[in-house]
Amino acid sequence: MKLGAAGLAAAIVVERGYDYFSESKAKAKIVIVGGGAAGITMSAYLSDMLRQVDVTIIEPNEIHHYQPGYTLIAADIFTPGEIAKPTQQLIPRHVKWLKDSVTELNPEGNSLTTAKNGRVSYDFLVLVPGCQMDFDLVDGITRKSLGEGNVHSIYDYRSAALCRDAIKQLGGVKDGKLVFTNTYTKVKCGGAPKKICLLTEDSLRKRNLRKNFEISYFANQNELMKPKVYGDRLVEIFAERDIKVKYKHRLTGVDTSAKKAFFDLLPEPSANPIFDDATHEKLVVDYELLHIVPPMSAPDFIKNSAVSVPIDKDNQGGWIKVDKETLVHSKFKNIISLGDVAGIPTSKTGAAIRMQAPIAAANLVSMMENKEPVMKYNGYSACPVITEHGKVLMCEFGYDEKLLPSIPFLDPGIERGMWWLLKVHGLKPMYYHGMLNGFI
Ligand SMILES: Cc1cc2nc3c(=O)[nH]c(=O)nc-3n(C[C@H](O)[C@H](O)[C@H](O)COP(=O)(O)OP(=O)(O)OC[C@H]3O[C@@H](n4cnc5c(N)ncnc54)[C@H](O)[C@@H]3O)c2cc1C
Repeated sequence: MKLGAAGLAAAIVVERGYDYFSESKAKAKIVIVGGGAAGITMSAYLSDMLRQVDVTIIEPNEIHHYQPGYTLIAADIFTPGEIAKPTQQLIPRHVKWLKDSVTELNPEGNSLTTAKNGRVSYDFLVLVPGCQMDFDLVDGITRKSLGEGNVHSIYDYRSAALCRDAIKQLGGVKDGKLVFTNTYTKVKCGGAPKKICLLTEDSLRKRNLRKNFEISYFANQNELMKPKVYGDRLVEIFAERDIKVKYKHRLTGVDTSAKKAFFDLLPEPSANPIFDDATHEKLVVDYELLHIVPPMSAPDFIKNSAVSVPIDKDNQGGWIKVDKETLVHSKFKNIISLGDVAGIPTSKTGAAIRMQAPIAAANLVSMMENKEPVMKYNGYSACPVITEHGKVLMCEFGYDEKLLPSIPFLDPGIERGMWWLLKVHGLKPMYYHGMLNGFI
């Protein structure tokens, strides 16, 4: 069963004999690397749970983005300004902020190195630096080049706004090919590339321009989504809307001046950037507008350290090796990781962090009290796939593709208006006022 905050608090009281609402007297120096969704939420929970708060967030950026809003910028539903807030405003009062970047970890010595402030030591470390966007692994593309040759990506704040403008400007085009892709690595919010494809199609249909365009979606995998109930419905929706889906196609490069996209056809879906089979077919596709998803991995300073999963052919991401239930590092017991950088078999979303953070914080406090970390995360993640203006397919699941719907008596495989209201009007205030404050 999915636990809400109240259920979780009750479970902590029962399982740990620990009252979530009163403070622990345990003392330790806690360093949080990354002040994104997971870092700020963790700091809020820890501030509430500890009587003496010695928590430092290391984060270089002065502006924090509500990243699920990137898709809605491209769809012209949110403005860029609505989803950007000063980091300082979001960090809890008793938490220190070191405006710096971590360059190296030394988990054996309980310390790390930063770019400007040198060595920082800790008793407990929370690693939450998110995903690294490897745009330049697509030949011909860099993050800075987005926009050139009508190539866009909602995985970048600036590009999301350019994508919005490009969709609006499709009015003057006849017989255009719109090409949407995903990538071969684990990604944050796997539903997002499908959302922007469906929203673009919807925009053209509502503007009576749909007949002028051929729309294709190139997937690396051989399905659109897991668990199957959501994937099956998305296959139907893509067919109903005449969006051609090509499975097992990987975008390898783009010629932005000629507006050509290059694909490899995979014998089988693979997360390996290099194929063993050199005989695979290749395909060149002309496009009018191309939407891409960059390959993603753990930030380099994580990949280059002992905290990451060994990089082998099946796991190129170098994600952090934690127990999938307690979120405690499998080797270094004073390290906890959650959010996008955690190497756990669930989808990387803010919704997952909402469930992970109170569990990770309770387990960290347990360890500070020399107790076992007993709170367990069930892999809950959620992806509200916007299928058109006014409709969302709410995909909620946990480990092993177990369905974990918030409203169990509703058929999960149907897109609904109520989820649209939640996605567009509810989730952003819930994020800023609830999750980042450790309330929900
Ligand atoms: C287009 C898009 C659509 C999405 N849609 C949804 C959705 O509908 N629903 C949903 O639940 N989730 C969605 N997400 C996913 C969600 O936004 C992420 O899962 C979440 O933001 C991850 O939080 P995080 O704290 O792990 O990483 P981030 O929020 O990315 O934060 C990581 C932080 O670490 C910092 N950092 C990086 N390197 C260092 C370093 N060396 N030293 C110090 N700090 C460092 C970064 O500056 C950053 O602030 C979407 C994301 C995108 C991009």
